[in-house]
Amino acid sequence: MNVSVKPAPGDNRSLKNILVAEKDFEAGDIIYKEHPIVAVLDADLQGKGSHCSHCLRHIQKGMAITPESDRLDSVYCSEDCQVKDKVQSQNLLFGLEPVLPPEMDNGLNELTKRDRNQAQETFTAFLKAQNKPSHLLAARIVARQVTIETAKMSANKGGPVVAELPEGSGVGEQYGLSDHIERLRFINANVSDEEIKKLCEVLASALPGLEKSITDERHAILLGKIAYNAIGICYAGGRDDRPVSDERPEDMERTRTPHGTSRQTGCGLYLVSSYLAHSCAPSARPLFNSGTSELHLVATHPIKKGDELTMAYVDVSQHAEETPEEARRRRRVELARGWKFKCECSRCLSETPEGAESELGVEKDESKVEEVLRHTLVGEPSGPPTGLE
Ligand SMILES: [Zn+2]
Ligand SMILES: [Zn+2]
Repeated sequence: MNVSVKPAPGDNRSLKNILVAEKDFEAGDIIYKEHPIVAVLDADLQGKGSHCSHCLRHIQKGMAITPESDRLDSVYCSEDCQVKDKVQSQNLLFGLEPVLPPEMDNGLNELTKRDRNQAQETFTAFLKAQNKPSHLLAARIVARQVTIETAKMSANKGGPVVAELPEGSGVGEQYGLSDHIERLRFINANVSDEEIKKLCEVLASALPGLEKSITDERHAILLGKIAYNAIGICYAGGRDDRPVSDERPEDMERTRTPHGTSRQTGCGLYLVSSYLAHSCAPSARPLFNSGTSELHLVATHPIKKGDELTMAYVDVSQHAEETPEEARRRRRVELARGWKFKCECSRCLSETPEGAESELGVEKDESKVEEVLRHTLVGEPSGPPTGLE
């Protein structure tokens, strides 16, 4: 992919990894292209029929494929997207077709249909009331992991499910999807008992035992990983018609995008691009030039082999009505709220701060890795099994 993941120089206690260029690039060059592990449309677009629920492509009027019944009112741009969505997570979470291959089903599907229907209805109502893309994204990731594990147990190992793993990121080769997700950094996130209970019921009703793949702690970490790593998908500068959130700024969900989350069409979790650090003077930017959730990382200025690649997680431009100090403060507050760190990029350091900034309310960097990685990578003696550090 022209890039590699390397440990960040300096503070090795944080176990931070960065993305480094493996060759030279000119401004405007595409450094790599990457498909998301999972992407979801913004809630106001889901059910509208204007965008594909799988690849997020804009669909011309009358051209959408509309499933006979779909709890989320999903529509698709193509049969290919419909099948991928169904296999990856839609059927397990929101459908009633067998979750096991025919040779293993043994009439299970007929037995479970009523309970599945009930559990899915309750969970869907919860998701719709929540209106937060991260919760659907988390459920879809869990479903994908479960589906991959289920496929491994079945005789049909090389079947369609395994083939649906993303290409080019090593997934399904050296590591499984779960290993990749385990390596991602995260910040603290809250998850309600109610949400976990409802998702567990959806899984258990489909195949007893699947609910064991979720615990309160694991799901909170997954939501924290989505909060920290999800990237906003914006087409051509983003849209202007996204409904304004009535939440407090501290509670709003944020995704990494230089256009600002308020302009996105949806968001996704990308394995390689998750390693892009933020800079207010970034060396690259994510574009969605194919009109889908496929991310093109494009160089914003000449890059040399070995240089760190960075993107802006927030809108780092200076707006017309802002002074340089106001623009600096706005982007740093956004970063502190969304990603829990005080930016120390070259631009922030060169622009003299106005007085003390203690009111940013975060430590230097509150993101972290899972305890299990800390032990593997640093060989520290294991402490209490909190999983958090
Ligand atoms: Zn599509
Ligand atoms: Zn900065």
